[in-house]
Amino acid sequence: MFTRAALWAAGAAPAPTTPAEPPVRVTLVTGGHSHDPGFYSVFDNNPAIRVTVNPHPVAYRGDLRKSTDVLVLYDMVQEVPEDQRRNLTQFLESGKGLVVLHHALMDFNSWEWWWRDVMAGRYLEKPDRGQPASTFLHDVDIDAKPAGDHPILRGIPPMLIHDETYKHMWISKDAQVLLETTHPTSDGPLAWISPYEKSRVVVIQLGHGPEAHRHPSYRQLVHNAILWAAGK
Ligand SMILES: [Zn+2]
Repeated sequence: MFTRAALWAAGAAPAPTTPAEPPVRVTLVTGGHSHDPGFYSVFDNNPAIRVTVNPHPVAYRGDLRKSTDVLVLYDMVQEVPEDQRRNLTQFLESGKGLVVLHHALMDFNSWEWWWRDVMAGRYLEKPDRGQPASTFLHDVDIDAKPAGDHPILRGIPPMLIHDETYKHMWISKDAQVLLETTHPTSDGPLAWISPYEKSRVVVIQLGHGPEAHRHPSYRQLVHNAILWAAGK
């Protein structure tokens, strides 16, 4: 019998507050790789972002520029047809933001512009150009340290995180490393900013399972990356 309005009127629940600025509109792309459902909770409790989940390939089929301020990728897809490449290229050239999480480092492995210029990193599915295939290891206790001083690192202390490491990736020497480890099963950089100039691109290698998704510093890192990629 109680409507929500009646409960507010009775003081039983706080009235909704309106944030000062409209929230950053995030399109979150999943698909192509299984993941814990708790992953979605990474985006909870932040009125500054509003997340819509749109699995691939549907997300890439339309013009993303109107609906999306920041594209967050947590999908894993190898091939991307020409019309979808065009949509992604237009989105990035318009100055919108991109945040690449974990296994999305394997996206579009044969689209050189994407991995070289945009992500400034590549998880190699198979050996290429004299470089061996990349490797992964689950259930690693990773000692992760912030590198340098950057708005994305605000509130991020050195952390121990139980997660998956990647090794033998290609990472651009021009990437600005944000988070790093000395763990022998990792390449070292755990998060970086791409030198791509037309939009802000952040890559975060971490984020496999619930231990990472629940980690407050991981959540903070992802939120900071989204806001920075949006130009905040
Ligand atoms: Zn993984």
